[in-house]
Amino acid sequence: MRLVLFMVALAAASAAHAQFRIPSFDLNKAVESVKNVNKAVREPSEAEEISIGRDVASRLLGAAPLVDDPALQRYINQVGRWLALQTERSDLPWQFGVLDSPNLNAFAMPGGTIFITRGLLERMRSEAELGGVLGHEIAHVLRKHHLKAIQKGAQTALAGDALSAALRERGGAQRDKLIAFGAEMYSRGLDKSDELEADRLGVVIAARAGYDAYGLPAVLQTLQAMNPQDSGLALMFKTHPAPGERLDALGERMQPVLDAYSGQAQLADRFVRQLRR
Ligand SMILES: [Zn+2]
Repeated sequence: MRLVLFMVALAAASAAHAQFRIPSFDLNKAVESVKNVNKAVREPSEAEEISIGRDVASRLLGAAPLVDDPALQRYINQVGRWLALQTERSDLPWQFGVLDSPNLNAFAMPGGTIFITRGLLERMRSEAELGGVLGHEIAHVLRKHHLKAIQKGAQTALAGDALSAALRERGGAQRDKLIAFGAEMYSRGLDKSDELEADRLGVVIAARAGYDAYGLPAVLQTLQAMNPQDSGLALMFKTHPAPGERLDALGERMQPVLDAYSGQAQLADRFVRQLRR
């Protein structure tokens, strides 16, 4: 249902030749509140969302530290924040970081912390491609995909009261369980429908930010052309639908948008300069 609403909103926006409009959150909330009627546990507040994301992020950073290159980290933050500014949650404390890992992957924490690996960055050829990938991760945050998955999983592990406390307070055994579950989710992955939704929304965000809308499809083509046995792809392929399937799904639903915004900026030179420094 959410996807249908998304496409209706998108169609309305393009029919009017208006700027892209990411579908209204109130509309989604209405749908969600109907779905969640029987859930005893309340939605986490924005402050809780941010604090959970930061705790999960510090746990993930224990496994792979940030690349020690302030200029590169600054550049990724400039691009990421420009993309996030195009969204309804521009006021979140967005931060972006390059993880020092040869694997190809990117991760979004609840509340707006986003990591991309050095391995994935090194396979990209333009800022439009970076914009497409960061747009996909930003979309996960906008739609609270991870937050909802953490909450859903934690609900079975923690009773209602314990979960409320774990959401509210940092520290303590319940909180530890919640964050451990959250971190583990990044090795299991989200539902396929969440991933495909993030692809569609990511394309829209990148296009709104002025990038060639084919940035994300170009990265997916790069992944598709790689040897699937490449060890750097293992986690990405385990947690995401296959690149070919993602490309087909994008083509099916987003072809007119991709074509309409294919002439926008690629900024290949700027990207290569930033990476070489
Ligand atoms: Zn994803």
